[in-house]
Amino acid sequence: MWAGLSVSSVLLLATAARSQAVPFEAVRAIFGDAVSQQEPFSAPCFQDWESAECVAVRTNYLSAAFRSNVPSSQVHTQWETCQTTGEQCLLDATNSNNRLAVNQTTCANGSVPDYFVDVSDYTQVQKAFKFSRDTGVPIVVKNTGHDYLGRSSGRGSLSLWTHNMKQMAFHRDFKPEKGDKTYATAITVGAGVQFSEFYAFADANNVTVLGGAEASVGASGGWVLGGGHGPLANTFGMAADRALQFKVVTPDGQYRTVNAAQHSDLFFALRGGGSGYAVILETTYLATPAVAIQAIFLSFSATLDTTRQLWSVVIDNGLKWSEESWGGFANDGAFIYINPVINATRAVESMKPMADFAERLKAAGVANVALTQTTFPNFLSWYKVFSAANKAAQGVNMPEASRLIPKSSFATAKSRAELLAAYEAAYKITPGFLILAATPASYAGDGLTSMTPAWRNSVFHNTWVARWDWNATRAEKVATYRKVSEAADYVRKITPDASYTNEADVYEPNYKVAHWGPNYNKLLAIKKKYDPKGLLDCWHCVGFDASSPRYSCWFTEAEVKGRR
Ligand SMILES: Cc1cc2nc3c(=O)[nH]c(=O)nc-3n(C[C@H](O)[C@H](O)[C@H](O)COP(=O)(O)OP(=O)(O)OC[C@H]3O[C@@H](n4cnc5c(N)ncnc54)[C@H](O)[C@@H]3O)c2cc1C
Repeated sequence: MWAGLSVSSVLLLATAARSQAVPFEAVRAIFGDAVSQQEPFSAPCFQDWESAECVAVRTNYLSAAFRSNVPSSQVHTQWETCQTTGEQCLLDATNSNNRLAVNQTTCANGSVPDYFVDVSDYTQVQKAFKFSRDTGVPIVVKNTGHDYLGRSSGRGSLSLWTHNMKQMAFHRDFKPEKGDKTYATAITVGAGVQFSEFYAFADANNVTVLGGAEASVGASGGWVLGGGHGPLANTFGMAADRALQFKVVTPDGQYRTVNAAQHSDLFFALRGGGSGYAVILETTYLATPAVAIQAIFLSFSATLDTTRQLWSVVIDNGLKWSEESWGGFANDGAFIYINPVINATRAVESMKPMADFAERLKAAGVANVALTQTTFPNFLSWYKVFSAANKAAQGVNMPEASRLIPKSSFATAKSRAELLAAYEAAYKITPGFLILAATPASYAGDGLTSMTPAWRNSVFHNTWVARWDWNATRAEKVATYRKVSEAADYVRKITPDASYTNEADVYEPNYKVAHWGPNYNKLLAIKKKYDPKGLLDCWHCVGFDASSPRYSCWFTEAEVKGRR
């Protein structure tokens, strides 16, 4: 709820535009003060453009960190809207001070849930499942709202907002409950902890944890459920590999401690099987001793030709650098890799092909060539430098598509040339392209993870994004989904069917195989066991029911694919 507006005025504004399945007072009788109704993120600007609340919205419109503090907000703003009806409450993301957006549209709730429970303990989750069973009101779980598939939003639903579950604990000799194995160091994070907090806490305890790139993504929600990559994943494994224990509430209302020794089927599903099996209250991760980080940063003013040259170097050395323990990112004009294993001398030798490329750029007179190769004493010191300069797009209408690139694509000159050609062709469709060397290519795993096994045989995860503006037509929105999908098609054609559920094409053609491969049927049986009524059904999750009215604001697969 926005500061400055009284409770009653917020309720009036919210209820005026809603017809709720259950009157708010009845919901309040169940959850007390923990439940609220929320306006869309930008609503204050439709009420008073000069108000302090609106100024805060305009100033922070593109900030995922700011947005993550607001229950109704989504980082990809189409998930605040109802895409099929056009109901929305958005500003102009290209210029949030442009008044046209508020002058030419009215603020509607779109996909903003009807009720929000600010979760602080498991009994509220138990009540929510009972409420959903009794009333048919769908449940969504929202942590930070970074989801690319709209799974943490939904009109007419009750949102379990986990953001304020910020507890963290450091353990020595952590032994999962009823387990027989002990881990020297581990960290437990509440469901609302974000990477910025996770990294700082790990650093304060002189250990390293795996986390992702964007500081405001949640460390204990959708990230781990989908597998969870990060720049150290090559040698550290993914979040799913490092999760040792979860505390959850399952849709039958049971509060459970889940690990390899108890509820091991659910443990398998929570480690990469996607959203929709249970509500996580906390996750305990393996932590490893602090390590020095070798790092390389290269950036330059890119042209089509220099971008092609960069990708050529990255592809030609892709397998070698993966085997030498590197991980990181590249786009069309930057390359950022880190290594937690080798020493500084070895790092410089290993990265010689990239340093040589930087020299060639300088010799050719390319502008703004900046190359840095250095050692950081620990992960956090590298991360601070990295995150200050690199931000993914936030606060925009933006679908994404993803592919995993297997080791075989790097094996021969022909396969490498094919990959480069696919990247170039896709780039002509959308320039929003990222190479993420963030796969567990050097980490065997313990056989208890459920994301597609293709992850371990892959060197890169690739993503494509594209955007639409606040005033886009339905046809333009559909065309944008189609655009990212078509960009990914160039790589789909030359690689096995594998992608990342958390950063996926919303209309991924064969998502069951692409996200989970041979694990899908086992996951479906686990889903049916723990959530037989589909209370946690979500888009392209295991057991997804496309016919559910929950998805009335998503374009249908037929509409998007029909035009391909
Ligand atoms: C800018 C940006 C950067 C990203 N960087 C990375 C990265 O480096 N590595 C990476 O692997 N991914 C990355 N992602 C993708 C990220 O993993 C997904 O967006 C993920 O779904 C975010 O999870 P969340 O809990 O923070 O977000 P939310 O949108 O709140 O939730 C996402 C999904 O998880 C479910 N969920 C959330 N909390 C819980 C819970 N406590 N119990 C049960 N279900 C829950 C939701 O219902 C929803 O299905 C990035 C995304 C963005 C937008």
